[in-house]
Amino acid sequence: MTGTEINSCTEALRLLAAHLDGELGGHAHSEMERHLRTCRSCFSRAEFEARLKASIAGLAQEPVPPELSQRVHTLLREFTVAGGD
Ligand SMILES: [Zn+2]
Repeated sequence: MTGTEINSCTEALRLLAAHLDGELGGHAHSEMERHLRTCRSCFSRAEFEARLKASIAGLAQEPVPPELSQRVHTLLREFTVAGGD
């Protein structure tokens, strides 16, 4: 295999967190952008998670109780699992 290719939503979702954190570079980044342009399902999920991240960042101005961040992680995991293919 040469580099990262995103040919399925499973691949895209696996890299989504890194993408939202700005950790994907070069080829992986373009592959992700390409997938999000063509896949409405992953695009909505990316939007959802980006909004969630933004609201968590907003909350971070105040101390976040550990239960809350734990709960958000649990919700995110359920959301990802429930999404399926
Ligand atoms: Zn997709």
